[in-house]
Amino acid sequence: MSGVNQIRSTFLDYFSRNGHEKVASSPLVPQNDPTLMFTNAGMVQFKNVFTGFEKRHYARAATAQKCMRAGGKHNDLDNVGYTARHLTFFEMLGNFSFGDYFKEGAIELAWNFVSRELALPREKLLVTVYHDDDEAFSLWKKIAGFSDDRIIRIPTADNFWSMGDVGPCGPCSEIFFDQGDSVAGGPPGSPDEDGDRFLEFWNLVFMQYEQIAPGERAPLPRPSIDTGMGLERIAALLQGVQSVFEVDLFRRLIGAVAEATSVDSAGPQAASHRVIADHLRASAFLVADGVTPSNEGRGYVLRRIMRRAMRHAQLLGAAEPLMHRLVGELVSEMGLAYPELTRAESLIRDTLLTEETRFRQTLVRGLSILDEESASLTAGASFSGETAFKLYDTYGFPLDLTEDALRPRGIVVDKAAFETAMERQRAEARKAWAGSGETATEAVWFALEERLGATEFLGYDREKSEGQI
Ligand code: ATP
Ligand code: MG
Ligand code: MG
Ligand code: MG
Repeated sequence: MSGVNQIRSTFLDYFSRNGHEKVASSPLVPQNDPTLMFTNAGMVQFKNVFTGFEKRHYARAATAQKCMRAGGKHNDLDNVGYTARHLTFFEMLGNFSFGDYFKEGAIELAWNFVSRELALPREKLLVTVYHDDDEAFSLWKKIAGFSDDRIIRIPTADNFWSMGDVGPCGPCSEIFFDQGDSVAGGPPGSPDEDGDRFLEFWNLVFMQYEQIAPGERAPLPRPSIDTGMGLERIAALLQGVQSVFEVDLFRRLIGAVAEATSVDSAGPQAASHRVIADHLRASAFLVADGVTPSNEGRGYVLRRIMRRAMRHAQLLGAAEPLMHRLVGELVSEMGLAYPELTRAESLIRDTLLTEETRFRQTLVRGLSILDEESASLTAGASFSGETAFKLYDTYGFPLDLTEDALRPRGIVVDKAAFETAMERQRAEARKAWAGSGETATEAVWFALEERLGATEFLGYDREKSEGQI
């Protein structure tokens, strides 16, 4: 059975044998791109190479890239622990061609990797192509020998990628694995495609156009390739398990959670184990890349992730701070592949312990208010936005923590009322500052900064176009 660490090297070695430069993962905080909250795909570090602004000494590259999809458009935070395939932090394996090979080369390399190196059976696989991409359709037939019904034409943005309003763009083709009818879900393009039966694991992007202006597109003189395969997803397929949380790495992290809390990870509280294991990785890698918990921007996403994990630790009955005790297990799993994790080990422990110690004082009180205020509510009811705001403002409960807590009972937070309460507080802050002797602009700025800490930066939301939010 191939473990996560082995699959990562198998991938990098295969592409290196095929003329690709092995390039290290870039940090989770994108360099040279203030508009993007976190690195959320392998191509991010190569953006300027694709557009031609930057030259490298290689035309082919392969990476295992650290990715975060929490915050911004690509926000999988709410899925984590509840779907079988979403993590906030994950590794994306990718091969890239900068004006070198194109569609045929990309499909050939991918197909040989999947069918020979990994020995996945063709009858369990199917692929999607963009609806008008006849070239990709015929290449899959020719190279992989798929029958027509295994190549699904998709007309939506799921299969058309663009870097932004202008710039490189093009159709994509994705590879799916059919896990059999014991798992719910329909094939890609069908109404129940969001189920887990057909697992998307590899996306091949064919950058062949340049979007010049809205409605105006020209062919790129040197088309390029960008691919991304989720390491944890391919590991699940190879290990014959139906969830990323059951791969070797997560089994051990979840085992550590179970041991530290003495709560069985196979029991009714399994979602808490999963959330804690995922959020531990995300928090640790963010701290290792220089993010510290704060009330705004990236630091606030980190704080939200840490606090959510802490609530789940509380649900498992942890009477003392828990997260910092799990760091050793994570470092022993991933420290070889990511030396920055080992270097930051004590900083990660300290950051988790400090945040957990601080938050515990209000967590317990806040949770009892949350329980009282929601006690009489039933599924479908809405939870007071005023109370959610009070929990945020006084008890440090990020809104999504409150939502996460109410979700298993089918209760939703009245977000409009939450926003109104937030706006009223902002207005009061502005008034208070006005009389303080500072200039009006300064006053408004600081008040906004304080309050808007909770607001995410949504500027760059086209990393990979997709239909879902
Ligand atoms: P999904 O439809 O399952 O949300 P996606 O279409 O958003 O995935 P892409 O943007 O195409 O994903 O990213 C390329 C690959 O990265 C995916 O095929 C998948 O293997 C992996 N991946 C994407 N999001 C996640 C995630 N949240 N957790 C783990 N792996 C992921
Ligand atoms: Mg997605
Ligand atoms: Mg998808
Ligand atoms: Mg995709």
